[in-house]
Amino acid sequence: MPEGSGRAVLVTGASRGIGRAVARAFAALGDRVAVHHRESPELAGQVVGSLGGEGHAVVQADLAHAGQVAAMVDEAAAALGGLDVLVNNAGIYAEHPITELSYAEWQEAWRETLGVNLVGAANVTWCAVRHMLEGGGGRIVNVSSRGAFRGEPTAPAYGASKAGLNAFGQSLARQLAPHGISVLTVAPGYVETDMTSEHLKASRGEEIRSQSPFNRVATPEEVAAAVVYLASPEAAFASGAILDLNGASYLRT
Ligand code: NAD
Repeated sequence: MPEGSGRAVLVTGASRGIGRAVARAFAALGDRVAVHHRESPELAGQVVGSLGGEGHAVVQADLAHAGQVAAMVDEAAAALGGLDVLVNNAGIYAEHPITELSYAEWQEAWRETLGVNLVGAANVTWCAVRHMLEGGGGRIVNVSSRGAFRGEPTAPAYGASKAGLNAFGQSLARQLAPHGISVLTVAPGYVETDMTSEHLKASRGEEIRSQSPFNRVATPEEVAAAVVYLASPEAAFASGAILDLNGASYLRT
């Protein structure tokens, strides 16, 4: 894998939020970035247009569909000339309190959330690893969540999907090290994005910010900086690690 700049990087869910910040951070280092989106070609095009450097691409897939995922990853690798770094960022969060849902609604919430956040990421990874093996190595960075450790009372499938993503990354870290592929994870607390904008408004927002002794939530750029570090050559030996990025709002032992 090339060191520093000039890498081929695929970021899922990069048309907005954390993924967009991650795409910009890699491009600023001189990397070529495939900006993946589900159904936002315009936004994804704008992101690519805003990136420094050249050689970037827009790719599309619903991560809940394995066939679309395979085609999307191959397209990204073809456009970038290989694949050095995969950032599994795309994810969904939807409330599904166990006390309020019908059995059918409950099953749907689990199917959808795990289908994107865990199985979707696993499928993108399977496809990306094929290209990394061809290239002689690579880096996978998974975007998990504080909720994997703290619990998500009204979105348990989300918490479980992220805990599963953590275990997935640690399993692959051991399996893929002999192939020159490191697998790392960042676990943010609340981040100011479209996903959380409703929660961060009004009095609920104050309570959320006060969870951190810094009395604020993270910016997408702070998460992006962590992802860039985890994908750096210096972090290769940290493979298997999960980096908390939650403003000391939840300290696990
Ligand atoms: P966001 O909603 O702004 O972006 C999520 C992206 O994932 C979007 O671009 C969306 O199109 C994409 N996506 C969702 N479902 C998809 C599907 N089926 N197929 C393809 N793409 C799909 O959210 P964000 O806040 O930027 O979150 C990015 C990641 O960070 C997520 O994995 C999220 O769980 C995680 N995270 C976010 C926070 C936070 O507070 N915002 C905290 C911890 C972890």
